[in-house]
Amino acid sequence: MSRTTVATIHLGALRHNLARVRALASGARVMAVVKADAYGHGLERVARALDSEAEAFAVAAIADGLRLRAAGHRQRIVVLSGPDTPADIAEMQRLKLEALIHHDAQLPWLARADAARGALTVWIKVDTGMHRLGFAPARAREVHALLTAMPAIAPEVGLMTHFASSEEFEGRDTALQIQRFREATDGLEGPRALSNSAAVLGWPDARGDWVRTGGLLYGLSVVEGRSGADFGFRPAMTLTTRLVAINQLARGERVGYNGTYTCPEDMAVGVAAIGYGDGYPRSAVQGTPVLVNGQLAPLVGRVSMDLITLDLRGVPDARVGDRVTLWGAGLPVETVAAAAGTISYDLTCGMTRRVLFVDD
Ligand code: PLP
Repeated sequence: MSRTTVATIHLGALRHNLARVRALASGARVMAVVKADAYGHGLERVARALDSEAEAFAVAAIADGLRLRAAGHRQRIVVLSGPDTPADIAEMQRLKLEALIHHDAQLPWLARADAARGALTVWIKVDTGMHRLGFAPARAREVHALLTAMPAIAPEVGLMTHFASSEEFEGRDTALQIQRFREATDGLEGPRALSNSAAVLGWPDARGDWVRTGGLLYGLSVVEGRSGADFGFRPAMTLTTRLVAINQLARGERVGYNGTYTCPEDMAVGVAAIGYGDGYPRSAVQGTPVLVNGQLAPLVGRVSMDLITLDLRGVPDARVGDRVTLWGAGLPVETVAAAAGTISYDLTCGMTRRVLFVDD
């Protein structure tokens, strides 16, 4: 398979999106979440595009922090899962990475950290209802006091929480999480960071001193039925390939593995050079929208490893070699994700090494 499958990354869209987050976040500083290789867009390229705008980057692993430092970024970098071992702490001090403190197991490691290696900036994660990482709200004050007294810890200790369902703008869960966070941290010194992307859109009460946005920077939305474009964001990735065959099939012929699509009439079925081996979701159902030369050519049959098959009845002048768009401008990735039973983040994160990445 030649590398006809291309993910074009729109650097201007990334910058536009960060500016839009900043406008919505009214005064809060922006921590650009670039974990998982910048949601599949490429860590170094995204960090370079946002370098002069993002006040901090957030990553999931120390290794990503190392990559950012190696690329010359001098911003604050927060590791959202914190140190996982005592040895991580020295590495974080060396790289000037900020640590997330979410569990009692980390406290003795920090107490024993060598202050001579440099002050470690830490954030306390308060679990206000997500029940993934974090101290119970009732522990926030005690942990804050412990950390601020430790010799290797920088004096400013941040406070964070993470929302479980902030895309449900009408729901009560986020309001409750905000309230629990306030009660747990009222009067404590230190910057607050609560909002993920959906909270920036729907929960102005949660702004705090920092917003921690990933999805929106890439133009992605997790709000049901709404794409990033609906909120004024631009897609940062367009995924394209080419038509490699067109088959004229008779009514009643079946297409692809297990013959799950039966031609309702004599028709042209296009074959495009992309499959689950590239990261196109195998779970995409028949009828998932795909564009051929900008016109709708719905998916038919099963997604295979290298290829997909398309109903070309709406594109009568299609030719082998024509451009096929899987998502991006004109075809929101959210629509494709919904047809595959997942979210847009899952799709952009899922691009494999076979895909050629190109900057635009
Ligand atoms: N903060 C934490 C702790 C996260 O795990 C994530 C993403 O999963 C984010 C912020 C960013 O979320 P979003 O991409 O929805 O803005």
